[in-house]
Amino acid sequence: MGVLDRTTWFARGDTETHPYRCMSCGADLSVQYHSCPECGSYDIRATKWIDE
Ligand SMILES: [Zn+2]
Repeated sequence: MGVLDRTTWFARGDTETHPYRCMSCGADLSVQYHSCPECGSYDIRATKWIDE
């Protein structure tokens, strides 16, 4: 409880603010782009489907 839990929450919070990922270059994205702004790939997926 307390500080340790809060640190864990922030560490996991990245998937909350960047819920999408480019499957080609691995870029974490805050919105689901039609194409990746980093590499131009169209293979953008929600991280909640590919994590774990
Ligand atoms: Zn990409």
